[in-house]
Amino acid sequence: MICVGIARGRHRHVIAEHRHLADNGVGLVELRLDFIQGNVQVRRLLADRPCPAVVTCRRPADGGHWSRSEEERRLVLRTAIVEGADYVDLEDDIAGAVPRYGRTKRIVSHHDFTGTPADLDSLQRQMAALDADVVKIATMATCPEDNLRMLEMVRGAEIPTVGICMGEIGMPTRVLCGRFGSPFTYATFHEDRLLAPGQIGWRQMRDVYRYDSITPATKVYGVIADPVAHSYSPVVHNAALAEAGIDAVYLPFRVPAENLDEFLFEAHRWPLSGLSVTIPHKEAVLRHAQRSDEMVKAIGAANTLVFSADGPEAFNTDADAAVESLEATLRDHGHEGLVDVNAVNSALVLGAGGAARALAFGLKRRKIDVTVAARTVERAKRIAAEVGCKAVDWTARHRMPFGCVVNATPVGMHPNVNESPFEREHLRPYMVVFDTVYNPENTLLIKEARQAGCRIVTGVDMFVRQAAIQFQIWHDRPAPEKVMREALKRATASAKQPA
Ligand code: NAP
Repeated sequence: MICVGIARGRHRHVIAEHRHLADNGVGLVELRLDFIQGNVQVRRLLADRPCPAVVTCRRPADGGHWSRSEEERRLVLRTAIVEGADYVDLEDDIAGAVPRYGRTKRIVSHHDFTGTPADLDSLQRQMAALDADVVKIATMATCPEDNLRMLEMVRGAEIPTVGICMGEIGMPTRVLCGRFGSPFTYATFHEDRLLAPGQIGWRQMRDVYRYDSITPATKVYGVIADPVAHSYSPVVHNAALAEAGIDAVYLPFRVPAENLDEFLFEAHRWPLSGLSVTIPHKEAVLRHAQRSDEMVKAIGAANTLVFSADGPEAFNTDADAAVESLEATLRDHGHEGLVDVNAVNSALVLGAGGAARALAFGLKRRKIDVTVAARTVERAKRIAAEVGCKAVDWTARHRMPFGCVVNATPVGMHPNVNESPFEREHLRPYMVVFDTVYNPENTLLIKEARQAGCRIVTGVDMFVRQAAIQFQIWHDRPAPEKVMREALKRATASAKQPA
């Protein structure tokens, strides 16, 4: 069950949001009375409530907004009990002083915004002893291991226990706590009104992560990165899992570089079935791979892991995704693949990072004559030596004509949407222009290329393709690419733009 926090200053707004949530099938709300301005009318908020409610009134030290006296706060909580609230949330330092009364259930809570205590089990037992019906522990995750300790504490608890880690690192616990036995998780009414670090909105919890359908049998996949909050992979993969009816969930795991080894050693404790891998881990994960596909061996970087009894197996879907996206564009224009197409027997790759390297490898394997142009020419030369292609300085990128121009730099990405890495007067109608940037899909380079009559391949094409190849590897069936593309487009159009 998802418990949705309502934190509004006016009683009528609280009542309206409560009604709205109940009408949308939400079965439990948390009324955050510390947000109410002026006198709190507990009876008014609980009378005729459309679905069960937890009454909470937090002090600033516990992440709340209560500005009046502690005496008044306890009076509000006692009133909620007398008025028959379904649950009342009592912090562990006051729970002993507020007696049980009537049918109101007691949630005994503990918050730590600085870290996760070493002995969560004994903390949980002490809290359970305070006449708790439900124990709630919310602590800041400072490393991914904190998440596992929290979830394992929940699994071992003798009375219902909600265990959540806060912060970007802790986010997976919010989605997975039910899988480990939490009676409910917390989400906010609106993504822009977060009540605790790392919280997500209830619609995202319900519709993207499908919280209510997660069981102990649900397989766990995800993306590891640092940072990870900007990643669109969870939206795309979860949409595909829902469409295919696969009992699995895909989560964003923020894993700092110094925690990568430990995270991968502990993969069985989640347990993880597969991971997407992105910056800064694409090369470092290879230390753990028991086997690697041919592309990983050639490129020296992986973007996909599969966990089996023998350990992680590494794949790289970027290069194939890029080349397949290019081929699909050419097929749409009446060509059969790249190799014999005169117009695309040469390609200019802009940039010399991970994406450029994968692209240069992929194109070279299809016998395309590749030239890498980069701001830091030494990096371009390194790729050229590894791939067996040419390297030129950034300023030389317009000097020769190429059949295909590929942008593998972030130039043109949100918020710098008025920038292009390639000047429009050098675009020719015979060119294929491929921009790997996918946010926005229609970058300035893509718009100008379209105007110049070029064939185009977008970063959305490549992103969806690489995710679709991952899906095929993990789930052994074709991916619902249309659904994935729509999910990505919706997310880039409506979400807060990544930093
Ligand atoms: P990366 O390893 O950080 O490499 C970025 C490259 O771009 C570096 O060579 C960098 O040059 C260059 N660069 C950055 N800003 C530049 C500027 N203003 N002018 C010229 N060159 C500049 O990143 P990556 O992993 O390769 O990713 C690059 C881009 O590819 C991403 O931004 C993303 O949009 C796109 N991408 C798309 C997909 C997809 O599926 N569609 C997948 C992966 C990547 P220096 O070395 O001089 O800093």
